[in-house]
Amino acid sequence: MKIFIESLGCPKNLADSEEICGALKQAGHEIVFSEDEADAALINTCAFLQASRDEAEEEIIRLLKLKKAGRLKKVAAAGCLVQKYGADLLRRFPKLDSIIDIYSINNAATAFNRKGFLHAEYPDPDRIITAPQSKMRLTAKHSAYLKIADGCSNRCAYCLIPQLRGKFRSKSIEDSVQEAKGLSAAGAKEISIIAQDTTRYGEDLPVSGLGKPSLEKLITKLTKIKRVKWWRIMYAYPERITPELIDAMKNNDSVCHYLDMPLQHISDSVLKRMNRISTEKTICEKINALRKAMPDFAIRTNFIVGFPGETDKDFRRLIKFIREYRLDNVGVFEFSPEPGTPAYDMPSQIPPELKRERAEILIEEQSRMLRKINQEQTGREITVLLDGPCIGRTYADAPDIDGTVKLTKALPGKTGQFIKARIITAEGYYKLAEPVLK
Ligand code: SF4
Repeated sequence: MKIFIESLGCPKNLADSEEICGALKQAGHEIVFSEDEADAALINTCAFLQASRDEAEEEIIRLLKLKKAGRLKKVAAAGCLVQKYGADLLRRFPKLDSIIDIYSINNAATAFNRKGFLHAEYPDPDRIITAPQSKMRLTAKHSAYLKIADGCSNRCAYCLIPQLRGKFRSKSIEDSVQEAKGLSAAGAKEISIIAQDTTRYGEDLPVSGLGKPSLEKLITKLTKIKRVKWWRIMYAYPERITPELIDAMKNNDSVCHYLDMPLQHISDSVLKRMNRISTEKTICEKINALRKAMPDFAIRTNFIVGFPGETDKDFRRLIKFIREYRLDNVGVFEFSPEPGTPAYDMPSQIPPELKRERAEILIEEQSRMLRKINQEQTGREITVLLDGPCIGRTYADAPDIDGTVKLTKALPGKTGQFIKARIITAEGYYKLAEPVLK
């Protein structure tokens, strides 16, 4: 069949969608990118927040309407909404042909020749995840994701992920390197390393000849794949950024001086209630250590405002922190109480209008910092990885979530290549630059 894949949520879900596509192709199906050409559809869902669950359900309803209209023969669902509701999802949407759990995505083809809930009989929570048998890339040829683990054991008080994806499970170093070699052979020049918490990598793996597996050991192995020029570490947990990891980043030129490091807050009392092991002191120490080792180090992070019990004083600490620590990319989220999480039942919930007000103030504060950063960067020569003839990113910009560089002159045929450019202006997260032709 011609199967349309819809992938919702985060890059980790996208990596799963690539694995699902690989399994469907291996079974002889064709993957198409619009439901108009398709015989069937599979939606890989997200369930992290109420908003993402609403979006997933709206999309399921939309695809089922196409089925009712005879435009699709079959509709299947996978991903976190399946983890959340299991067989109950089929009761909620009886017209769905089948649903697949996260342990069964390698058998995704079964979803189109069998009805019902396809799940691993006894999902072994300790089972390490393996490299996909086959993978079909859904990202640009030159920029890929390498998922090195699944699940999470951090249990942040506001987060459903540990309940949805199980506890933290690493992919072996051998499988991760093998998969990365495949991505490189298929043209990837940039590989973003992803998991719920990449800095926990290896803690669940047995000691090998190399000693206890760890992220820095994996990085050292991966950077031997010379065709990949940018290794990018995403989803790092501040406390687990070790001096060894900082050295591995500093001593390997192809590792971007960049980290996506969700901090969520800076006030110790809020971090404590979030069940985060971070403190203001340790976070500042890690940032200072990264910047001492790599002065051009770029940090992306996220903050949650309006967490239950957040006082004005807590919020002012966050403002002060943003003013002092110049963060390159900042995402600001209003706390969303998720049923089933400890934070949902916490006292002192913050009124929605105050959450919004704090989010706006924090965004404005970051915009002020960005203006300063941009002024300093104007006129500077930068390296740009081109995602299109006149659009690209710097080492400080992860795909899909951070800023971009627009060129004053298109460079046809250079997509996926690195070029030099000089920044003319920068506004917010967007830079305008002229190519520096050698
Ligand atoms: S680190 Fe915390 S927020 Fe992130 S997935 Fe794990 S539990 Fe959720």
